[in-house]
Amino acid sequence: MSIDEKVRKPLAELGVAGPGGVQALFAEVRAAMEHERSALVSRGAASEADRDRLCKDLRDRWLARKNGLLSFIDENWLKTASKELKPSVGRSFNSIRQESAAFEVSALLKEVPVRAHEPAASDVLTKASVPAGISNITREVPGDLTLPGNRRPIGSLHPVTQMQREIEDIFLNLGFRIESGPEIESTYYNFDALNIPESHPSRDDWDTLYIDSKTVLRTHTSPVQIRAMEKYGAPLYIIIPGKCYRHDNPDASHSPMFHQMEGLAIASDITFADLKVTLDFFAKKLFGEKIRTRFQPSFFPFTEPSGEVSISCIFCGGEGCRVCKESGWIEVMGCGIVHPQVLRNGGIDPEKFTGWAFGLGIDRFAMMKYDINDIQLFLQSDVRFLEQF
Ligand SMILES: [Zn+2]
Repeated sequence: MSIDEKVRKPLAELGVAGPGGVQALFAEVRAAMEHERSALVSRGAASEADRDRLCKDLRDRWLARKNGLLSFIDENWLKTASKELKPSVGRSFNSIRQESAAFEVSALLKEVPVRAHEPAASDVLTKASVPAGISNITREVPGDLTLPGNRRPIGSLHPVTQMQREIEDIFLNLGFRIESGPEIESTYYNFDALNIPESHPSRDDWDTLYIDSKTVLRTHTSPVQIRAMEKYGAPLYIIIPGKCYRHDNPDASHSPMFHQMEGLAIASDITFADLKVTLDFFAKKLFGEKIRTRFQPSFFPFTEPSGEVSISCIFCGGEGCRVCKESGWIEVMGCGIVHPQVLRNGGIDPEKFTGWAFGLGIDRFAMMKYDINDIQLFLQSDVRFLEQF
Protein backbone atom coordinates (compact mmCIF):
# COMPACT_ATOMS: atom_id res chain seq x y z
CA MET A 1 0.00 0.00 0.00
CA SER A 2 1.45 3.38 -0.96
CA ILE A 3 1.73 6.23 1.49
CA ASP A 4 -0.99 8.07 -0.50
CA GLU A 5 -3.39 5.23 0.22
CA LYS A 6 -2.37 4.84 3.85
CA VAL A 7 -3.04 8.45 4.86
CA ARG A 8 -6.60 8.03 3.62
CA LYS A 9 -7.38 5.23 6.08
CA PRO A 10 -7.91 5.39 9.86
CA LEU A 11 -5.29 3.76 12.11
CA ALA A 12 -7.59 0.90 13.10
CA GLU A 13 -7.95 -0.13 9.47
CA LEU A 14 -4.15 -0.03 9.06
CA GLY A 15 -3.83 -2.45 11.98
CA VAL A 16 -1.99 0.05 14.19
CA ALA A 17 -2.84 -0.76 17.81
CA GLY A 18 0.08 0.49 19.92
CA PRO A 19 2.65 3.30 20.14
CA GLY A 20 5.23 1.12 18.39
CA GLY A 21 2.97 0.86 15.35
CA VAL A 22 2.43 4.61 15.38
CA GLN A 23 6.14 5.28 15.36
CA ALA A 24 6.72 2.83 12.51
CA LEU A 25 3.97 4.44 10.48
CA PHE A 26 5.33 7.95 10.94
CA ALA A 27 8.83 6.70 10.12
CA GLU A 28 7.39 5.59 6.79
CA VAL A 29 5.89 9.05 6.22
CA ARG A 30 9.20 10.71 7.07
CA ALA A 31 11.08 8.41 4.68
CA ALA A 32 8.62 9.11 1.85
CA MET A 33 8.92 12.88 2.36
CA GLU A 34 12.70 12.78 2.41
CA HIS A 35 12.81 10.53 -0.62
CA GLU A 36 10.65 12.85 -2.72
CA ARG A 37 12.50 15.96 -1.63
CA SER A 38 16.00 14.58 -2.27
CA ALA A 39 14.89 13.12 -5.61
CA LEU A 40 13.83 16.61 -6.74
CA VAL A 41 17.03 18.19 -5.40
CA SER A 42 19.29 15.71 -7.20
CA ARG A 43 17.26 15.81 -10.39
CA GLY A 44 17.13 19.60 -10.56
CA ALA A 45 15.03 21.67 -12.94
CA ALA A 46 15.50 22.52 -16.59
CA SER A 47 14.73 26.20 -16.14
CA GLU A 48 13.70 28.67 -13.47
CA ALA A 49 10.05 28.47 -14.48
CA ASP A 50 10.26 24.71 -14.33
CA ARG A 51 11.81 24.96 -10.86
CA ASP A 52 9.03 27.21 -9.57
CA ARG A 53 6.43 24.79 -10.80
CA LEU A 54 8.16 21.63 -9.42
CA CYS A 55 8.71 23.20 -5.98
CA LYS A 56 5.13 24.37 -5.73
CA ASP A 57 3.81 20.96 -6.79
CA LEU A 58 5.84 19.17 -4.14
CA ARG A 59 4.85 21.68 -1.46
CA ASP A 60 1.16 21.36 -2.31
CA ARG A 61 1.29 17.59 -2.45
CA TRP A 62 2.36 17.45 1.22
CA LEU A 63 1.31 20.71 2.84
CA ALA A 64 -1.82 22.00 1.03
CA ARG A 65 -4.54 22.85 3.55
CA LYS A 66 -6.99 20.97 1.45
CA ASN A 67 -6.01 17.49 0.20
CA GLY A 68 -2.34 17.78 1.24
CA LEU A 69 -0.99 14.46 2.60
CA LEU A 70 -0.46 15.97 6.06
CA SER A 71 -4.06 17.19 6.13
CA PHE A 72 -5.19 13.59 5.56
CA ILE A 73 -2.98 12.45 8.47
CA ASP A 74 -4.61 15.09 10.66
CA GLU A 75 -8.05 14.03 9.57
CA ASN A 76 -7.71 10.21 9.46
CA TRP A 77 -5.01 9.35 11.97
CA LEU A 78 -5.02 12.06 14.66
CA LYS A 79 -8.69 12.95 14.96
CA THR A 80 -9.91 9.36 14.91
CA ALA A 81 -7.16 7.97 17.19
CA SER A 82 -8.22 6.11 20.32
CA LYS A 83 -7.66 7.71 23.72
CA GLU A 84 -4.62 5.47 24.29
CA LEU A 85 -2.98 6.28 20.97
CA LYS A 86 -3.80 9.98 20.77
CA PRO A 87 -0.77 11.24 22.76
CA SER A 88 1.74 9.31 20.67
CA VAL A 89 0.04 10.17 17.35
CA GLY A 90 -0.03 13.84 18.44
CA ARG A 91 3.66 13.90 19.29
CA SER A 92 4.70 12.23 16.03
CA PHE A 93 2.43 14.45 13.96
CA ASN A 94 3.84 17.59 15.59
CA SER A 95 7.41 16.65 14.84
CA ILE A 96 6.53 15.81 11.21
CA ARG A 97 4.88 19.22 10.90
CA GLN A 98 8.01 20.94 12.20
CA GLU A 99 10.22 19.02 9.80
CA SER A 100 7.90 19.86 6.91
CA ALA A 101 9.23 23.43 6.97
CA ALA A 102 11.75 22.13 4.43
CA PHE A 103 8.79 21.70 2.02
CA GLU A 104 7.84 25.36 1.94
CA VAL A 105 8.41 26.75 -1.55
CA SER A 106 10.99 29.30 -0.35
CA ALA A 107 13.05 26.52 1.24
CA LEU A 108 12.78 24.20 -1.76
CA LEU A 109 13.81 26.93 -4.21
CA LYS A 110 17.12 27.31 -2.38
CA GLU A 111 17.84 23.59 -2.66
CA VAL A 112 16.77 22.68 -6.17
CA PRO A 113 19.34 23.58 -8.83
CA VAL A 114 18.62 24.72 -12.37
CA ARG A 115 20.67 22.66 -14.76
CA ALA A 116 21.28 24.74 -17.86
CA HIS A 117 21.54 22.82 -21.10
CA GLU A 118 24.98 22.95 -22.63
CA PRO A 119 24.98 22.56 -26.38
CA ALA A 120 27.93 20.16 -26.27
CA ALA A 121 28.60 17.20 -28.53
CA SER A 122 28.03 14.86 -25.62
CA ASP A 123 24.55 16.32 -25.18
CA VAL A 124 23.46 14.93 -28.49
CA LEU A 125 24.50 11.51 -27.32
CA THR A 126 22.70 11.97 -24.00
CA LYS A 127 19.46 12.87 -25.66
CA ALA A 128 19.75 10.06 -28.15
CA SER A 129 20.39 7.43 -25.49
CA VAL A 130 17.77 8.50 -22.97
CA PRO A 131 14.28 7.18 -23.69
CA ALA A 132 11.47 9.71 -24.02
CA GLY A 133 9.67 10.42 -20.77
CA ILE A 134 12.72 10.72 -18.56
CA SER A 135 14.48 13.28 -20.70
CA ASN A 136 14.62 15.73 -17.78
CA ILE A 137 17.21 13.47 -16.11
CA THR A 138 20.67 14.77 -16.88
CA ARG A 139 23.41 12.24 -17.34
CA GLU A 140 27.14 12.64 -17.40
CA VAL A 141 28.70 11.22 -20.52
CA PRO A 142 32.49 11.17 -20.85
CA GLY A 143 33.79 13.41 -23.63
CA ASP A 144 36.00 10.94 -25.49
CA LEU A 145 34.78 7.36 -25.45
CA THR A 146 37.84 6.14 -27.36
CA LEU A 147 40.27 6.89 -24.49
CA PRO A 148 41.68 3.72 -22.84
CA GLY A 149 40.13 2.69 -19.51
CA ASN A 150 41.88 2.40 -16.17
CA ARG A 151 43.91 -0.78 -16.00
CA ARG A 152 44.41 -2.43 -12.62
CA PRO A 153 47.76 -4.18 -12.18
CA ILE A 154 47.47 -7.97 -12.30
CA GLY A 155 48.69 -9.77 -9.18
CA SER A 156 50.79 -12.92 -9.05
CA LEU A 157 50.76 -16.13 -7.03
CA HIS A 158 52.37 -15.86 -3.60
CA PRO A 159 55.94 -17.27 -3.61
CA VAL A 160 54.92 -19.95 -1.07
CA THR A 161 52.02 -20.99 -3.34
CA GLN A 162 54.38 -21.08 -6.32
CA MET A 163 56.79 -23.30 -4.40
CA GLN A 164 53.93 -25.55 -3.28
CA ARG A 165 52.68 -25.99 -6.87
CA GLU A 166 56.20 -26.76 -8.11
CA ILE A 167 56.66 -29.52 -5.51
CA GLU A 168 53.15 -30.84 -6.17
CA ASP A 169 53.84 -31.09 -9.91
CA ILE A 170 56.90 -33.28 -9.36
CA PHE A 171 54.98 -35.76 -7.20
CA LEU A 172 51.84 -35.68 -9.35
CA ASN A 173 54.04 -36.80 -12.24
CA LEU A 174 55.26 -39.70 -10.08
CA GLY A 175 51.68 -40.89 -9.56
CA PHE A 176 50.99 -39.35 -6.15
CA ARG A 177 47.73 -37.53 -5.49
CA ILE A 178 47.00 -34.53 -3.28
CA GLU A 179 45.16 -34.99 0.00
CA SER A 180 44.05 -32.42 2.57
CA GLY A 181 42.60 -32.45 6.06
CA PRO A 182 41.33 -30.17 8.83
CA GLU A 183 43.58 -27.53 10.39
CA ILE A 184 41.62 -27.83 13.65
CA GLU A 185 42.46 -31.37 14.64
CA SER A 186 41.82 -33.79 17.51
CA THR A 187 44.68 -34.80 19.78
CA TYR A 188 43.99 -38.36 18.63
CA TYR A 189 44.89 -37.70 14.98
CA ASN A 190 47.56 -35.12 15.74
CA PHE A 191 49.39 -37.19 18.39
CA ASP A 192 48.03 -40.57 19.59
CA ALA A 193 47.44 -42.20 16.20
CA LEU A 194 50.95 -41.12 15.16
CA ASN A 195 52.55 -42.90 18.08
CA ILE A 196 53.32 -39.67 19.95
CA PRO A 197 52.73 -40.57 23.60
CA GLU A 198 51.18 -38.37 26.27
CA SER A 199 54.64 -37.77 27.74
CA HIS A 200 56.22 -36.48 24.50
CA PRO A 201 57.49 -32.86 24.78
CA SER A 202 55.74 -31.78 21.56
CA ARG A 203 52.39 -32.30 23.35
CA ASP A 204 53.34 -29.63 25.84
CA ASP A 205 51.31 -26.43 25.58
CA TRP A 206 54.60 -24.56 25.17
CA ASP A 207 54.81 -26.10 21.70
CA THR A 208 51.21 -26.69 20.71
CA LEU A 209 48.24 -24.34 20.38
CA TYR A 210 45.38 -26.06 22.20
CA ILE A 211 41.74 -25.14 21.63
CA ASP A 212 40.67 -27.44 24.45
CA SER A 213 42.26 -30.51 26.06
CA LYS A 214 41.19 -32.71 23.12
CA THR A 215 41.52 -30.23 20.20
CA VAL A 216 44.56 -28.49 18.73
CA LEU A 217 45.57 -26.42 15.76
CA ARG A 218 47.45 -29.17 13.92
CA THR A 219 51.20 -29.00 14.51
CA HIS A 220 52.03 -30.90 11.32
CA THR A 221 50.26 -32.30 8.25
CA SER A 222 50.87 -35.89 9.47
CA PRO A 223 47.35 -36.43 10.92
CA VAL A 224 46.14 -36.53 7.30
CA GLN A 225 48.26 -39.71 6.87
CA ILE A 226 45.97 -41.55 9.30
CA ARG A 227 42.81 -40.01 7.84
CA ALA A 228 43.87 -41.05 4.32
CA MET A 229 44.76 -44.61 5.42
CA GLU A 230 41.31 -44.94 7.03
CA LYS A 231 39.64 -43.54 3.93
CA TYR A 232 41.49 -45.35 1.12
CA GLY A 233 43.44 -48.24 2.67
CA ALA A 234 46.53 -49.58 0.85
CA PRO A 235 48.21 -49.15 -1.58
CA LEU A 236 48.40 -45.38 -1.13
CA TYR A 237 50.53 -42.66 -2.73
CA ILE A 238 49.70 -39.17 -1.47
CA ILE A 239 51.20 -35.78 -0.79
CA ILE A 240 49.64 -33.48 1.82
CA PRO A 241 50.34 -29.75 1.54
CA GLY A 242 48.86 -27.43 4.12
CA LYS A 243 49.05 -24.91 6.94
CA CYS A 244 50.39 -25.92 10.37
CA TYR A 245 50.54 -24.06 13.66
CA ARG A 246 52.99 -24.00 16.55
CA HIS A 247 53.46 -21.98 19.68
CA ASP A 248 56.45 -20.07 18.24
CA ASN A 249 57.33 -16.43 18.57
CA PRO A 250 57.70 -14.89 15.14
CA ASP A 251 61.30 -14.19 14.11
CA ALA A 252 63.37 -14.46 10.92
CA SER A 253 63.10 -18.26 10.81
CA HIS A 254 59.95 -18.97 12.87
CA SER A 255 56.29 -18.22 12.36
CA PRO A 256 53.33 -19.49 14.39
CA MET A 257 51.75 -20.46 11.06
CA PHE A 258 53.75 -22.18 8.36
CA HIS A 259 53.30 -24.57 5.43
CA GLN A 260 54.27 -28.20 5.34
CA MET A 261 54.30 -30.81 2.62
CA GLU A 262 54.01 -34.40 3.68
CA GLY A 263 54.47 -37.43 1.44
CA LEU A 264 53.29 -40.98 2.10
CA ALA A 265 53.72 -44.13 0.05
CA ILE A 266 52.27 -47.47 1.16
CA ALA A 267 52.50 -50.66 -0.88
CA SER A 268 53.19 -54.36 -0.44
CA ASP A 269 56.91 -54.39 -1.20
CA ILE A 270 58.22 -50.93 -0.42
CA THR A 271 61.68 -50.33 1.11
CA PHE A 272 64.01 -47.58 2.26
CA ALA A 273 65.68 -47.81 -1.16
CA ASP A 274 62.45 -46.58 -2.81
CA LEU A 275 62.36 -43.67 -0.39
CA LYS A 276 65.98 -42.72 -1.14
CA VAL A 277 65.62 -42.85 -4.89
CA THR A 278 62.33 -40.91 -4.83
CA LEU A 279 63.68 -38.08 -2.68
CA ASP A 280 66.91 -37.95 -4.67
CA PHE A 281 64.87 -37.66 -7.89
CA PHE A 282 62.71 -34.97 -6.29
CA ALA A 283 65.73 -32.89 -5.17
CA LYS A 284 67.30 -33.07 -8.64
CA LYS A 285 64.01 -32.09 -10.32
CA LEU A 286 63.56 -29.12 -8.03
CA PHE A 287 67.11 -27.77 -7.68
CA GLY A 288 68.96 -29.22 -10.69
CA GLU A 289 70.70 -32.41 -11.84
CA LYS A 290 73.95 -31.62 -9.97
CA ILE A 291 72.29 -31.78 -6.56
CA ARG A 292 73.33 -34.70 -4.36
CA THR A 293 71.37 -36.01 -1.38
CA ARG A 294 72.57 -37.35 1.96
CA PHE A 295 70.61 -39.43 4.48
CA GLN A 296 71.50 -39.47 8.17
CA PRO A 297 69.82 -41.40 10.98
CA SER A 298 67.35 -39.49 13.12
CA PHE A 299 64.33 -40.13 15.33
CA PHE A 300 60.60 -39.52 14.88
CA PRO A 301 57.92 -41.39 16.85
CA PHE A 302 55.94 -42.22 13.71
CA THR A 303 58.77 -43.68 11.57
CA GLU A 304 61.28 -46.46 12.21
CA PRO A 305 63.99 -46.16 11.03
CA SER A 306 63.97 -42.38 10.61
CA GLY A 307 66.28 -40.09 8.71
CA GLU A 308 67.21 -36.49 8.00
CA VAL A 309 67.74 -35.58 4.36
CA SER A 310 70.34 -33.03 3.35
CA ILE A 311 71.06 -31.75 -0.14
CA SER A 312 74.38 -30.46 -1.41
CA CYS A 313 74.40 -26.67 -0.98
CA ILE A 314 72.55 -25.03 -3.87
CA PHE A 315 74.53 -21.81 -3.39
CA CYS A 316 78.12 -23.06 -3.34
CA GLY A 317 77.69 -26.50 -4.90
CA GLY A 318 79.17 -28.15 -1.80
CA GLU A 319 82.30 -25.99 -1.53
CA GLY A 320 81.16 -24.38 1.73
CA CYS A 321 79.58 -20.94 2.19
CA ARG A 322 77.65 -18.68 4.58
CA VAL A 323 74.29 -20.38 3.92
CA CYS A 324 75.48 -23.97 4.52
CA LYS A 325 77.72 -22.81 7.38
CA GLU A 326 80.78 -24.05 5.45
CA SER A 327 79.53 -27.66 5.60
CA GLY A 328 78.52 -27.95 1.94
CA TRP A 329 75.15 -29.47 2.98
CA ILE A 330 71.71 -28.07 3.81
CA GLU A 331 69.28 -30.12 5.87
CA VAL A 332 65.89 -30.02 4.16
CA MET A 333 63.57 -32.85 5.24
CA GLY A 334 62.72 -35.55 7.71
CA CYS A 335 61.77 -39.02 6.50
CA GLY A 336 61.51 -42.68 7.42
CA ILE A 337 59.76 -46.02 7.16
CA VAL A 338 56.24 -45.77 8.61
CA HIS A 339 56.09 -47.31 12.11
CA PRO A 340 54.05 -50.56 12.11
CA GLN A 341 51.86 -49.22 14.94
CA VAL A 342 50.97 -46.16 12.81
CA LEU A 343 49.89 -48.44 9.95
CA ARG A 344 47.80 -50.44 12.40
CA ASN A 345 46.22 -47.21 13.72
CA GLY A 346 45.27 -46.37 10.13
CA GLY A 347 43.64 -49.79 9.70
CA ILE A 348 46.42 -51.27 7.52
CA ASP A 349 48.03 -54.64 8.26
CA PRO A 350 51.82 -54.11 8.75
CA GLU A 351 52.41 -57.80 7.94
CA LYS A 352 51.13 -57.20 4.41
CA PHE A 353 52.15 -53.61 3.70
CA THR A 354 55.07 -51.29 4.37
CA GLY A 355 55.36 -47.59 3.71
CA TRP A 356 57.58 -44.55 3.87
CA ALA A 357 56.90 -40.90 4.59
CA PHE A 358 58.66 -37.56 4.45
CA GLY A 359 57.89 -34.02 5.57
CA LEU A 360 59.30 -30.67 4.49
CA GLY A 361 58.65 -26.98 5.10
CA ILE A 362 57.32 -25.25 1.99
CA ASP A 363 58.19 -21.81 3.38
CA ARG A 364 61.78 -22.94 3.99
CA PHE A 365 62.05 -24.32 0.47
CA ALA A 366 60.76 -21.01 -0.93
CA MET A 367 63.26 -19.10 1.23
CA MET A 368 66.05 -21.31 -0.09
CA LYS A 369 65.02 -21.10 -3.71
CA TYR A 370 64.50 -17.32 -3.74
CA ASP A 371 67.30 -16.58 -1.23
CA ILE A 372 64.99 -14.90 1.30
CA ASN A 373 66.41 -14.51 4.78
CA ASP A 374 63.25 -13.63 6.75
CA ILE A 375 60.13 -15.82 6.82
CA GLN A 376 58.09 -12.83 8.06
CA LEU A 377 58.31 -11.26 4.59
CA PHE A 378 55.87 -13.93 3.36
CA LEU A 379 53.18 -12.73 5.76
CA GLN A 380 53.42 -8.94 5.53
CA SER A 381 51.52 -8.50 2.24
CA ASP A 382 54.02 -5.91 1.09
CA VAL A 383 53.45 -5.51 -2.65
CA ARG A 384 57.03 -4.29 -3.19
CA PHE A 385 58.22 -7.69 -1.94
CA LEU A 386 55.52 -9.85 -3.55
CA GLU A 387 55.67 -8.30 -7.02
CA GLN A 388 59.21 -9.66 -7.48
CA PHE A 389 57.90 -13.19 -7.93
ZN1 LIG B 1 76.98 -23.48 0.67
